[in-house]
Amino acid sequence: MSGQSGDLVVVACCEACGAGGHYPGDATETVCPACGGVTSYRQCGHCWDHLAFGPHLRNSRRWRHPSCGYEAASRRWRELKLSEFRALTPPSLTAFYKKAGLHPFDVFGNPGRRHCHGTIVEARGVLGRASGRCRLYFEDGFITVCIETGIPFTIPFSAVAALQVGGREAWIHTLVYLRWQTGSLLLLNENFRPPQVASFLEPVVNLLESQGDVTPINSRDDTVSAHFISPRLRALAD
Ligand SMILES: [Zn+2]
Ligand SMILES: [Zn+2]
Repeated sequence: MSGQSGDLVVVACCEACGAGGHYPGDATETVCPACGGVTSYRQCGHCWDHLAFGPHLRNSRRWRHPSCGYEAASRRWRELKLSEFRALTPPSLTAFYKKAGLHPFDVFGNPGRRHCHGTIVEARGVLGRASGRCRLYFEDGFITVCIETGIPFTIPFSAVAALQVGGREAWIHTLVYLRWQTGSLLLLNENFRPPQVASFLEPVVNLLESQGDVTPINSRDDTVSAHFISPRLRALAD
């Protein structure tokens, strides 16, 4: 950890697909080895918060800080080196993994990890009030569920019954459905189109498929194309 910040190697996760990677500490942007998405690290000109802008904002001329409302042309945001960026990995998740005995450097540097975000449309079998934003982190053999109104919990891959991505192809309107032994979550993502989210999650689905739990199907109807649905779920629907 000594010398120039350029010598330092840090781990960071792609804002789009969640893949982990190792990057030089003096970089201000990362190019994801998995999806090619560019994540930019910047500082808010109003509240000085550190923000990571994902590939879905790449073509926006102006960037906005959702928390404080500050807005400016994207090129005017102060660049931050990865080595000085405060929350390269989500702080609450880092604490959760440390408590579970996992090393954050291993977890967040894993190129096979993925994530997806969304607003909760429906939740079943989840303790407490489940509403607002939800993030799913697909790690090595388990999923961590972070719900805005609750505490994180994990689901082993062996308990997953369905992982399905669908929505309207023409809109940026993607539904992600996760069902496990004791519950389910339906999320709405408005940052990426259904084929994009499906391709982000493809390695996870392949892994689940190899366990024999989740198999892909083509489409369900005209507006909703379900990219993945498990045989167990199909059996329930029949
Ligand atoms: Zn990516
Ligand atoms: Zn701000």
